[in-house]
Formats: sequence, structure tokens, C-alpha cells
Amino acid sequence: MAKIQAIRGTHDWFGADAARFNAVIEAFGAIGERFGFQSVHTPVFEATELFARGIGEATDVVAKEMYSFPDRGGDLLTLRPEFTAGLARAYISNGWQQFSPLKLVTHGPLFRYERPQKGRYRQFHQIDAEVIGAAEPLADVELIAFADQLLKALGLGDKVVLQLNTLGDAASRAAYRAALVAHFSAHRADLSADSQLRLDKNPLRILDSKAEQDRPFIDAAPTIDAVLTPEAAAFFGEITAGLDALGIAYTRNPRLVRGLDYYSHTAFEFVTTHLGAQGTVIGGGRYDGLIEQLGGPSTPAVGWAGGIERLALLLEADDAAPPEVAVVPLGEAAQWAAARLANDLRAAGLCVEMAYRGTLKKRMSRANERGCALALILGEDELARGEVLLKQLDTGEQAPVALDRAVEAVSTALVGPIGTLEDD
Ligand code: ATP
Ligand code: MG
Repeated sequence: MAKIQAIRGTHDWFGADAARFNAVIEAFGAIGERFGFQSVHTPVFEATELFARGIGEATDVVAKEMYSFPDRGGDLLTLRPEFTAGLARAYISNGWQQFSPLKLVTHGPLFRYERPQKGRYRQFHQIDAEVIGAAEPLADVELIAFADQLLKALGLGDKVVLQLNTLGDAASRAAYRAALVAHFSAHRADLSADSQLRLDKNPLRILDSKAEQDRPFIDAAPTIDAVLTPEAAAFFGEITAGLDALGIAYTRNPRLVRGLDYYSHTAFEFVTTHLGAQGTVIGGGRYDGLIEQLGGPSTPAVGWAGGIERLALLLEADDAAPPEVAVVPLGEAAQWAAARLANDLRAAGLCVEMAYRGTLKKRMSRANERGCALALILGEDELARGEVLLKQLDTGEQAPVALDRAVEAVSTALVGPIGTLEDD
């Protein structure tokens, strides 16, 4: 029979890859708690309308990347391509303004119909942090500090730089839009087909084009600085003052825009040179207009999202903790006594590899390969004496210990001669 293939652009992460993936999520959870964020989980699918209205019709995501389908009842649904619109919808649906400012973290799978390549998939995963209901620049800076501490905790402090920009307020953006239209219109025929469309629909997004052909015109484009209103400039001044106060280094990138339409004021990306074209590992900014645009109360908000796979690709260490001890039964008579011993060790908090099958040699080499420090060998003779053989795998030293004191003996042996546990 023909083999069923995985869907293009999806991955089965396993082994060291899965360990790195988990390490990103674990560090994110730990640092998020330090910063006082609360966990939230929203649906993987939402009404297509939510993303069309929330992200913007002229974006790549809405125009050509969404997985949308009618369900059996005829409702048009979309697998979420990003988190923010769904979180904004949840905020409105549940009346969460009572908790404002609400600091949320979430993570999970997202779906975009993209051209798959290293660091770019059709199902990918993000960690995401949002502060909803805060207009204060303290919120922007706190979020950036969260991302900064997370990257440092992952050991990526030297591999990633922070790029910062402002997209200004509505008045600044209107003026900027006019300046960009004037600039790009003069080169319309030389722009990529996508950017010619953007020129009519949302010229700011030309700055986010990945087409080589657009590059020279983007590099020559005017920056927003000349048209920033005094209020928008003052807000940006607060952000840079905050980052300076916290000692967080950044580079000003005056042409940085985010791929999605709803951003205003602060825009930032943490970028690496180690992943080829897929260099942005975390991107975010302020989106003061989104919740109102989705039918909610006017609500300032700011957030970021990071690609778990891209971050995991940057991690070097295999962070999977090896099991501490292997339990090796010999002969069928010892099987359930050994299973019980493994179960007791696990209940006591130890990581245990149960060596299921093969000769003693096979089972011992499995324990070694998995990186266990100790093995507990249980044969019929040991069982008859109420003992188990405790073996130190690095030195080969071994000694019998009483079966009913095996958990204690293992804990003591793991601590080793340096930090010997108090023996009572
Ligand atoms: P890019 O410019 O690389 O397409 P984007 O602007 O579309 O990114 P966002 O929507 O801001 O990305 O998503 C935030 C982060 O999610 C990105 O910085 C990246 O790390 C990750 N990401 C986005 N799309 C993908 C994808 N298709 N596969 C893997 N990771 C992705
Ligand atoms: Mg994209």
C-alpha cells in the first residue's frame, strides 16, 4: 500500500529537536512568571472574519497564507495564523477589561500556507506575550525586557540583536503613507508585482517586502522621522529612555515595519544572522487600534511573538535530562518486582529508565547509552534475598542493597561523595 505522507511544511520534532523545542517553552514559562504574566489558551480555529478584519486584507497572511475552510455547518473558519487577533477576540468576548492591564502569555501551533524552507513552515509554533489595556511606555519596555531576559536565559544573548522603530500615531502614519506613495510611485514599474499592489492598498507594507527587486527602492525610501508628530516622537523617546535605563541595547532600524497591519508606535524585532533569510526570532509592537477595530472598547495594547522552531534551531545544547537510574530485571520472576521498584523510584521524583528487553549485556548497554548514572539489577537470586544490586555505571562499582531501602540508596548514591546526604 502507498505510504501516507506528512503534509508539506510540517515536522515531527523528536529527540534532541523536541528537547530544544521544549526548552524554549519552559524558559518562556519561567521568565513569564517572573514578569507577572498569566497563562491563557484560546482556540486553534476562529471565524475567518476575525483575521480578515484583525490582520488586514492587504497582508501576505490574509491575502495568501490562511488555511480557511467552511465547516459542515457552512461557517467559514480559519486555522489561526497568529495569536493576537484571537486573544483580542477573547478579551472582548469575555469582558476581560475588568482585569486591565492584562498581561497574557500563550504558546501553540499556527498555520500559514508559505513556501517551506529552513525556519519557515506551514505549521509552526510561537510563544506569545501581550499586555492589553496599557498605554504606558512602561508596558512596551517591560515586554522587551521579558524577551531580552528570555533570550539570555536560552544562552542566545550574543546571537541576537534588538532592532527598534516607531510607526508613530495615526497622524504620523497618514503623513508617512503620503511620503511613501510619492516615493514608490516614481518607481512603480520597477517594483515587484506584490509591491505594486501594496502601493495601492497599504504602501507601508512595501517596506516589509522580501523581494530582492524592491530592495534598492526600500533602502532609498524616506523614514518616518521627518513626519512624526511631537506626541509620537515623545512616546518613542520614552521607549528609548526606558531601554537605556534597563541597559537593553538596541539598534534603530528606521525602516522596520511589522508584517501585520494593526501596529502603531513601538515596533521591534530580535534578529539573528545565524538562520539565513529567516532571521527574525521574535517580533512585536504596539497595536492600540486593534480591539476597537474588532468591535471592542478602545484599548491600547502591546505584544510580541517568537518562533519556537527558529529559537530552537539556535540552541546548541541538547537539554534533555538523561534518566538518573536504570532498573534492569533479569528473568521473568523479577519482572514485576522490578516494575514496582521503578514505579517507587519515579514516585520519589527520580528519572528512571526501565530496561525491558534483551540479554543482561543489551540491557546494560541501553542504560549506558541513555546516560544513566546508576543501574539497579534485579535477578531471581537477589529477589529471593530481598536485595537488589546497585551499580555505579561510570566506575563499574557495585554492591547489594536491601530492596526496601533502594530508593534511599539511589538518592544517596546520586548525590555522591561530595554532598553526602544526612544519614539518620
Ligand atoms: P517573516 O517576516 O519571517 O515571514 P512574520 O513577520 O511573518 O515573519 P510574525 O507574524 O511577526 O512573523 O511572527 C512572529 C515570529 O514567528 C517570527 O518572527 C518568526 O520567528 C515566527 N514565524 C513566522 N512565520 C513562521 C513560519 N512560517 N515558520 C516558522 N516560524 C515563523
Ligand atoms: Mg511572514
